[in-house]
Amino acid sequence: MLEDLETRAWVEVDLDALRANFHKVRSAIGPRPGIIAMVKADAYGLGAERVVRALEPLGPWGYGVATADEGAALRRIGVERPILLCAPPSPQSLRAAAESRAILTVSDMEMLWRWRSAASPDRPLEFHVDIDTGMGRAGFDWRDAHAWGAAVKNACTDDLMWTGVMTHFQNSDGPDDAPTQLQWSRFNDAIAQLPVSREDLMVHVANSAAAVKWRDYSADAVRPGIFLYGGSVGADAPAPEPVVSVRARLVLVKDVPPGSTCGYGATHVARNWERWGTVAIGYGDGLPRKLGNRGTMLVRGQKAKVVGRISMDMTVVDITGIPEVTAGDIATIIGSDGAFEMSLDEVASHAETISYEILTGLRPRLPRVEKDSWTGSS
Ligand SMILES: *Cc1c(COP(=O)(O)O)cnc(C)c1O
Repeated sequence: MLEDLETRAWVEVDLDALRANFHKVRSAIGPRPGIIAMVKADAYGLGAERVVRALEPLGPWGYGVATADEGAALRRIGVERPILLCAPPSPQSLRAAAESRAILTVSDMEMLWRWRSAASPDRPLEFHVDIDTGMGRAGFDWRDAHAWGAAVKNACTDDLMWTGVMTHFQNSDGPDDAPTQLQWSRFNDAIAQLPVSREDLMVHVANSAAAVKWRDYSADAVRPGIFLYGGSVGADAPAPEPVVSVRARLVLVKDVPPGSTCGYGATHVARNWERWGTVAIGYGDGLPRKLGNRGTMLVRGQKAKVVGRISMDMTVVDITGIPEVTAGDIATIIGSDGAFEMSLDEVASHAETISYEILTGLRPRLPRVEKDSWTGSS
């Protein structure tokens, strides 16, 4: 049980909740569209291998990665499903991408020519065309589809197959559908100009927010990431099950007289007698420094405010008035304890960032502990 864990701090990954979120995506989009589970950045820090192992039986269409190495790692653990390389790869990493039979999302002709030279009769390659409808970071410009569409089609050979087309939304988690509508109409204008029939291409546009909020954008497949991992995609959207908890041990409890100072810069000064608990987690574990003097942890089912700046390995919380706290108790940074929950998104907002950055910032120093009723581990 978690109470017996010997580590000072850890990340709990609830694989039952992950699967529940996959089912929530499925019920939002209906039975037909494929689900490309985005597992880039080690599945947002949860561990791509464990996420893939949990999702495989649910039948995703494939997996989305951001780098050739991430694709190769999936092949090494035996993934047979399609792997979509969703970010423009460096020219230097194309060979590795080809070796792992990734599907490249192509953003310009130069990239396509390089991909073509990596293809051979022994190793035919596929690509999807990325259309830039407002993100700017990748993709062919939606305005010139007529011109590049012909060039892309002409570059195809028996060994190089154009099998899909995609775009990416810049604001689908906002309350207003208008920016997404605009991108969707640009996207449709562009594909109407292509010399290839839409029926011959797999069309996919939706990230988590677009997938769970608006069925219109489901197309042939959706590409959810954050929602699977428990990140909210807006107050107007279905809520995901929490997947990740972050916990750490209290390692020292002390009562301090008025005037005592806490942490680098002495930014907290005790006004009365206070009881402080030192928690064994810091920015070296991925806890944002922004939480200094603003974050809250849960200790013995009660809220305890962070006092002073966050150190590399330690954080101090004010546990004045919480009875019976002792070294070895568990502090919850993200997750539930008793009646309270510190949600991933609440912590992100205290740290003035987004859930994605919190999750991907959790360092390998924090062991990942699985909760999985299918295998009985907890
Ligand atoms: C990361 C990413 C996604 C997933 O986005 P979420 O907001 O995490 O659902 C989808 N598509 C592309 C191209 C991405 O890079």
